[in-house]
Amino acid sequence: IIEMQDVGKWFGSYQALRGIDLRVARGERVVVCGPSGSGKSTLIRCINRLEEHQQGRIVVDGIELTADLKNIEAIRREVGMVFQHFNLFPHLTVLENLTLGPIWVLKQPPAEAQATAMRFLERVRIPDQAHKYPGQLSGGQQQRVAIARSLCMSPKIILFDEPTSALDPEMVKEVLDVMTTLADTGITMLCVTHEMGFARQVANRVIFMDQGQIVEQAAPEEFFSHPRHERTRLFLSQIL
Ligand code: ATP
Ligand code: MG
Repeated sequence: IIEMQDVGKWFGSYQALRGIDLRVARGERVVVCGPSGSGKSTLIRCINRLEEHQQGRIVVDGIELTADLKNIEAIRREVGMVFQHFNLFPHLTVLENLTLGPIWVLKQPPAEAQATAMRFLERVRIPDQAHKYPGQLSGGQQQRVAIARSLCMSPKIILFDEPTSALDPEMVKEVLDVMTTLADTGITMLCVTHEMGFARQVANRVIFMDQGQIVEQAAPEEFFSHPRHERTRLFLSQIL
């Protein structure tokens, strides 16, 4: 469902992605890890065109990512994203945050959008928070709202960029639990995280990046027990 061929990305003269080849099949759950600055965020942001690549090809669900605005709109409908810092609208209630996209972008009738939103709030286990504002919720609850918001757009793919790294430790688990439940639905997931327990339990594949390149990728059992590259070993020894 995602295909990247020899993708390169520069910020000015700095090359953030080098020759990225990546294929993700429908329903796969891929965890991306690597040191700070290795290009993890840039990689996943290229998949929904929050960043533009300058070399190579990216095709998402049959749509090639080009400068064509039509393609970008189509991609944004298929690919949801959850960020480290939630990115909720602070002046809208939880329910309004969830229904904004479905009403304005998907043109759903408000009642239908609200019913869907409540279903997803139940799925992330906070239906009782629907009428609060984001600022009145804990970090873990806000992140679960962000996940529900993404799901309301019924994406085929959901991208996570360090969804738990801004959270207090006691809230990490509730968000990972929601993500684990989500993985069981069969949605395609690409997740930048350093939560290696989650990677072991949920991922089909773990990718290690360094200096803008994919250095190594393997099934989690293999990845954690027999990392092939020295840089992967060093990284794992620092975080595990
Ligand atoms: P972290 O773990 O700290 O989030 P990362 O692996 O996600 O790191 P990226 O954010 O993808 O790393 O950044 C890769 C490189 O590209 C870094 O050297 C960063 O400084 C650079 N970079 C990222 N975004 C920009 C930008 N908008 N302008 C210029 N340079 C950028
Ligand atoms: Mg990042």
